[in-house]
Amino acid sequence: MRMPSMKYQSGETVMGRWPGSSLYYEVKVLGFDPKKQLYTVIYKDGTELELKEQDIKHPAGFRQRSRSRSPGRRRSRSRSPARTTRRSSSRTAAAVAAAAITESVPSSRRDSRLKEVVEVRVSPLQPEKPVEVNSNNKHEENDTANKVNEKVEEEPEKNQSRYNLRRRRDDGDAKEAEARQQQEEKEAKFEAASAAPPTTPLDFGGKIGAIFWLLFLPAWVFFLLSQVNLKDPSLANFPPPLPPLETFWDTQAAGVVIFWILFQALLYVLPVGKLSEGMPLRSGERLKYRTNGFFAIAVSSVAVVAAMYQGIDLTYIHSHFLQLAVATLLISFMLSVYLYVRSRYAPPDQLALGGSSGNVVYDFFKGHELNPRIKNFDLKFFCEMRPGLIGWCVINFAMALAEMKQQGLEAPSHAMILVNLFQLLYVVDGLWNEEAILTTMDLMHDGFGFMLAFGDLVWVPFTYTLQAYYLVSHPNPLGPPALIAIITIKLLGFYIFRKSNSQKNTFRRNPSDPSLANLKTIPTATGKNLLAGGWWSVVRHPNYLGDLIMALAWSLPCGFSHLLPWYYMIYFIILLVHRDSRDMSECRRKYGSAWDEYCQTVRYRIIPGIY
Ligand code: NDP
Repeated sequence: MRMPSMKYQSGETVMGRWPGSSLYYEVKVLGFDPKKQLYTVIYKDGTELELKEQDIKHPAGFRQRSRSRSPGRRRSRSRSPARTTRRSSSRTAAAVAAAAITESVPSSRRDSRLKEVVEVRVSPLQPEKPVEVNSNNKHEENDTANKVNEKVEEEPEKNQSRYNLRRRRDDGDAKEAEARQQQEEKEAKFEAASAAPPTTPLDFGGKIGAIFWLLFLPAWVFFLLSQVNLKDPSLANFPPPLPPLETFWDTQAAGVVIFWILFQALLYVLPVGKLSEGMPLRSGERLKYRTNGFFAIAVSSVAVVAAMYQGIDLTYIHSHFLQLAVATLLISFMLSVYLYVRSRYAPPDQLALGGSSGNVVYDFFKGHELNPRIKNFDLKFFCEMRPGLIGWCVINFAMALAEMKQQGLEAPSHAMILVNLFQLLYVVDGLWNEEAILTTMDLMHDGFGFMLAFGDLVWVPFTYTLQAYYLVSHPNPLGPPALIAIITIKLLGFYIFRKSNSQKNTFRRNPSDPSLANLKTIPTATGKNLLAGGWWSVVRHPNYLGDLIMALAWSLPCGFSHLLPWYYMIYFIILLVHRDSRDMSECRRKYGSAWDEYCQTVRYRIIPGIY
């Protein structure tokens, strides 16, 4: 067996890289752990760290730069997210290093010890790949400055996971330093709160568009619901036959919806399951989310089966679908009003860049506050993942029971089973990998307003179930070849969808994950890289490609007699094409020429060779 070699000897003075930066400082080697392959080194200000061999260099390989800087330099007030001063990439690195050490060195000691530290700023003779600085427009400047702050907050944590940061002599000052740090954080928050929020260009047709969507989306849901029960449903059937007005409201149905939402809220707050960290916010903060979605769907399934055995007739959902939808629409509207009102009191650093236009209707629609929370209860995360998604599966199941009842079947039809299983797999997968939603557009960028509240609570459960609803009264027998073909399409789509989403999620959470070691990446001025290898080199949105293939497999079991069950497929193409273009301009704004480079490397958006 090969013994691990020790390149640097105890007592030797070498140059050690400050973790997360490209800055090297004079350090003394204290020891070497052959098991962990880490050197324990001590910096001149007394900080002890464990470094990898590649982060240590012989002093002979360095030249000294004119300006000196200490790793223990005090963090300035410029860390406030509200500041938008432009900085060069070398300033960024310095800020990162300065902040990193600031986090680990108690400030009182630090200040007094600064004088003793020999202040050198050195750079390796082999320069690292330069980081691009893009500043195409005002928004980007703001964003880049924010990202600098983000990085400042992020690094120490990253460092600590990779390196063992140990203070040797300053433990006595810990409390004082903590108090000082808290004071600094308070100051930074105050500065952020008193600054105006930056905004991004309006989308969805701007202010007029927002009014249109507010009226059109609910109307469209009711149009679809009015069609699906007809013997000969048609998307061109206009105006639809309107049911009497009094049939729209049913208090019992409203009670069912409220009970369901409260039940899901209870499961969400139970201290079961993992607490996951979201992506860093503009303020540098990282929110924690209880990702127990799989637990929630498992308990919900048991509850639904138990309810059936207690004699509750789930076909009630089919027979009162319209009333359930109306009640849910009302709840989503009231929730949106609450969200907008509370967002008026939220500090600017907690507002969504895309929903801060100043126009009441647009911001109400698009979502003004990014992560509205009641204590630790995250309203956006909860609505995105729980009542609507799990409700979708329960509705599908109820439609299968209604089909058996209506068609006099012993078991649901093959088409109904496929639709139920495919969509159940989609939801269960989403809840099993619930953490992955934390790196999606909805969670990271979109504010929580009518668009998402309505989408999560009404649109998903009441329109994504249209295929199952349609099959209740429109049977479509499927032979074995059709079954095999449809299942193959579904599995292919699922494979692409899952792999690509997981790859990006892993990359965003830990860019140095070993599974990504050989993948090409493109550096950006923000410090975040872009993945240009693996699935993300096939098209710019491989996850959308997989999702669309799955959507095809959901519609195929319903046959080709009517367009209505294909509605999801058509809508989804429009949604993802629009979403892709929204994301493209957002990424262009964030990453500037690095994004252009990515687009040149990966030519197609969603479908290879076509689009
Ligand atoms: P993505 O998960 O693709 O998120 C887009 C973000 O990912 C970008 O803003 C960017 O954020 C980051 N990103 C983009 N390209 C790269 C890259 N090359 N390398 C690293 N990061 C990159 O999109 P969505 O949030 O829209 O969708 C997530 C999933 O949800 C998809 O599978 C989609 O199909 C599905 N979906 C399903 C819907 C449904 O109704 N069934 C509706 C909407 C979505 P940053 O750089 O800031 O990290």
